[in-house]
Amino acid sequence: MSDNRSVPSRPPSSPAPLAPGAVVGMLGDGQLGRMAALAAARLGYRCHVFGPTADGPAHQVTNLSTLADYNDETALAAFAEAVDVVTYEFENVPAATAAFLDGRVPVRPGPQVLNLCQNRLREKDFLASIEVATTRYAEVRDAEGARRALRELGRPAVLKTTEFGYDGKGQALLRREADAETAWVEISAHTAGQAGETVGILEAFVDFRLEISVVVARSLDGQIETYVPVENQHRNHILDQTIVPARIPQDAADRAEGYARRIAEALDLVGVIAIEMFLTTEGKILVNELAPRPHNSGHWTIDACATSQFEQQIRAVCGLPLGSCERHSDAVMKNLIGEEAGRWAEILAEPGARLHLYGKAEARPGRKMGHVTKLSPRG
Ligand code: AMP
Repeated sequence: MSDNRSVPSRPPSSPAPLAPGAVVGMLGDGQLGRMAALAAARLGYRCHVFGPTADGPAHQVTNLSTLADYNDETALAAFAEAVDVVTYEFENVPAATAAFLDGRVPVRPGPQVLNLCQNRLREKDFLASIEVATTRYAEVRDAEGARRALRELGRPAVLKTTEFGYDGKGQALLRREADAETAWVEISAHTAGQAGETVGILEAFVDFRLEISVVVARSLDGQIETYVPVENQHRNHILDQTIVPARIPQDAADRAEGYARRIAEALDLVGVIAIEMFLTTEGKILVNELAPRPHNSGHWTIDACATSQFEQQIRAVCGLPLGSCERHSDAVMKNLIGEEAGRWAEILAEPGARLHLYGKAEARPGRKMGHVTKLSPRG
């Protein structure tokens, strides 16, 4: 007698890929969601954008969009019904939102990744557990704790909020113990309005030569692809330029890529994660931060690679094989911050300059309005 039970062709941990035509739910309506939605469209997928910003950059490029707050459960339930998978373009998705969606629809990268990347202490403890080097750090709960930690770690040191920090916000430099009080008040003010008391982290100051990052993608069945390490230059704590590839020794680049792979694997990542690192003056690589989504320092991949970071995100969350991260050109990506975007006509007149504008109406100071990528032959 024949056994007509169907034999799954893939293990249960690796469900069938979503076919073109499927709908990717995107939490977040900023420029990262916009560029992912455009990458999805190229492959024949739809993107349903969920976010609170009327005229947000991502809402503008798709007709499947929900304008709602992240804690609006009625809107979230309808969203979960309307999409085949959920991903996100920022890591501060409220834990309750991820928990609400998880179980109704696959959330990729999984809520465990979000939970880890939302908190600098958890993140650093995780990195230590997989033997990825970071600067020395200590948990801080008040000004006295900051003084104690400063004695332990040495001066100077950087006091940061464990949650909700970005672009250097929620951070203060401690040069001496007497700075502890004002630094604590400063970072506490940054978390005012968030639930719970402020928890801080004091980090030993890193004497770095360069800041670099690696963007890595991991598929549902464990394929890992990494982009080359890139060099990031900041102005006013905001990324100004990314230089590709980073001007670092090959052995440092290999260590950085090795860390990126180890992190993606250990997180059981499905999607894209960016890993910000320091190359110290002594030649060490120390991981600073993880962002479980495409990253500003990966925008150059749109113009210089066979597969962009946004396409990798869509491929990964849809269960498709990843594309190649190989670059055909070297590149410099310059962010257009605030009024810099007013240079659009001049940039367009420059042959070869690849202009990307995010559709934001108001050029407020410090606001990322767009970027321009310039390519050069691969060195
Ligand atoms: P972050 O929010 O952790 O990415 O920090 C923002 C910027 O502050 C980094 O890009 C660095 O330039 C600087 N920074 C952060 N942490 C440290 C540290 N421990 N030592 C020296 N500089 C740091």
